[in-house]
Amino acid sequence: MLSSKKSVYNFNAGPSALPREVLEKAQSELVDFKDSGMSIMEMSHRSATYEEVHNQAIERLKSLFSIPENYEVLLLQGGASLQFAMIPMNFLASGEKAAYVMSGAWSDKALKEGKTIGDVYEAASTKETNYNKVPDLSEITWNEEDAYVHITSNNTIFGTQFQEFPETNDVPLIADMSSDILSRPIDVSKFGMIYAGAQKNLGPSGVTVAIIRKDLLENVNESIPTILKYSTHASNNSLYNTPPSFGIYMLGEVLGWMEKQGGLEQIQKNNEEKAKLIYDAIDNSGGFYTGHAEKGSRSLMNITFRVADEVLEKQFLAEAKEAGFVGLNGHRSVGGCRASAYNSVPLAACQALEQFMKNFQAKHQK
Ligand code: PMP
Repeated sequence: MLSSKKSVYNFNAGPSALPREVLEKAQSELVDFKDSGMSIMEMSHRSATYEEVHNQAIERLKSLFSIPENYEVLLLQGGASLQFAMIPMNFLASGEKAAYVMSGAWSDKALKEGKTIGDVYEAASTKETNYNKVPDLSEITWNEEDAYVHITSNNTIFGTQFQEFPETNDVPLIADMSSDILSRPIDVSKFGMIYAGAQKNLGPSGVTVAIIRKDLLENVNESIPTILKYSTHASNNSLYNTPPSFGIYMLGEVLGWMEKQGGLEQIQKNNEEKAKLIYDAIDNSGGFYTGHAEKGSRSLMNITFRVADEVLEKQFLAEAKEAGFVGLNGHRSVGGCRASAYNSVPLAACQALEQFMKNFQAKHQK
């Protein structure tokens, strides 16, 4: 039994909602994990009990995401932000260039970090229209000799998402999937690397998932520190140093929950159904609510919108808070409203938000 009776509709952008049943299971196992007499947090990361948890999380990722044999799954720390630095450190050799597709604030950060390491350039950008869409695939340019092309699959702040990915052939495509990993089936073999902080779709913060094609690991830059080489983590099964063991346990449990939901095809259907409720409330409002993203680029994960005028918008957010909705404020850099409907956000929360939006409009429209 959870001690807190307060229940909220959690639309936080990250860290964000986790499945209630996973939290309850974790609570029941917290003090005495599988009759060991101790918590998973108190256990050696070299123990057989922990290793089983660790390997199960990796195996579940491989099976849910249909990750081919020629990829390594790494469980790292430092968030997606550390990957912004590690990717060019590992893969961008001197004399080479890397292309970055600019679709929002996070791609901007990735590019900036790349610049501190090597020669990187913009492969396309929608900055001019305040990132209200992702670049058309036909606008993305790169060179065949580039070290990699970097893309952000879902733009958490602006609420846009790539529906398809560029075909980069021999140039490895590297995707930051922090805010939509495992929200839909993806052909992993099209990517050289996929990475994501766990704290939106996969579990608590503190764990970062990196899925890397094995041949790329054979050519990482040898001159960087050991801890920063992807190959170090790959050859040590992500146990080179002490891993965030509790976070990895939670990751495995969330993945188990996703298996029970019916896998990624079903999860995608659920996500489509949830997002549609809120997009419909925007589209059917006659302009009372306006979406930030162009329709063809809309994200199933982060739904960004504005309310008719600024006074009403403040009131909307205040009344929503009062009614138990959490996390609906847009990112501090863009304002407005944002509902993050990640995998673990229940349909009922989206139904409640749709109803709240309709009621608010009926009450306040002049
Ligand atoms: N990329 C994207 C798309 C994100 O949404 C975020 C976090 N909101 C990050 C990167 C940064 O992740 P972290 O905080 O794990 O470094």
